[in-house]
Amino acid sequence: MDGSWHCWILGVILLLQLFPDSQAWGDAGHYAVCKIAEEYLTKDARVAVNALLPVSAEGHLANVCSWPDDIRRTDRSYSWSTALHFVNPPDSTCNYDYSRDCHDSAGNKGRCVTGAIYNYTTQLTSPNAVLKYNLTEALMFLSHFIGDIHQPLHVGFVGDLGGNRIVVNWYDTKTNLHRVWDDKIIDSALEKFYNSDVETMIQAIQKNITDNWSTSWAFCRSNQTVCPNLYASESISATCKYAYPNASAGSNLGDDYFYSRLPIVELRLAQGGVRLAAVLNNIFASKAKIAQA
Ligand SMILES: [Zn+2]
Repeated sequence: MDGSWHCWILGVILLLQLFPDSQAWGDAGHYAVCKIAEEYLTKDARVAVNALLPVSAEGHLANVCSWPDDIRRTDRSYSWSTALHFVNPPDSTCNYDYSRDCHDSAGNKGRCVTGAIYNYTTQLTSPNAVLKYNLTEALMFLSHFIGDIHQPLHVGFVGDLGGNRIVVNWYDTKTNLHRVWDDKIIDSALEKFYNSDVETMIQAIQKNITDNWSTSWAFCRSNQTVCPNLYASESISATCKYAYPNASAGSNLGDDYFYSRLPIVELRLAQGGVRLAAVLNNIFASKAKIAQA
């Protein structure tokens, strides 16, 4: 390989690092969901979560909630996990159906974000789980995917890959609609209202979570531990009502879009956090009961 190839390859690697493909809440979004969840953990769940966290978490779930995005981008042995970050209903379909929509691009059933949430919940609750599964990874995947499923465009139309193919401008800078919902709305809010400090933003969101809200969000119908089909249905509704309107390809999105959509983003971060805590509380409460029996 000659020197110019080396330069070219280095350039491509640098570009990929500068513009990673975007299929998740950005780091700040995932951090916020997990940080909010940490506030609502019961003592049993907190102890169990801390025991599973890797050293790199430094005792905080929020520090490793973007791990599934990092690993699928940097380690090819995790490329199977890419399909697990989203679920795409057919074009112009503003509802979600597990049996119709939960598959990867090759048609393998269950390989989507809702299927993954069921799978990792099952791993964490199954008897002798420690012997069968990597529960540290199961915890990090579950926490990340409960965040992802609350980002409305992770349940967007298949034709535009949940907004990834809709090129728009965000305050005159070129991006795509998916990234607007992953990062841009949050980044602009951090800049405009929170002195670029994510902890201040999280505290503001937490203050808005009333007891009524958190109880009504936390529980699934018919005593299920987790209900990703409900979260996905809410997301596709929000996608049709708030994400796609006034955001066709080539739009320049600014104040109108930002101020009207920010409350939806903050609501979804709050719901994601409260629900992640409820799911972990549920998983580790039943495990504690089994251990005591
Ligand atoms: Zn993701």
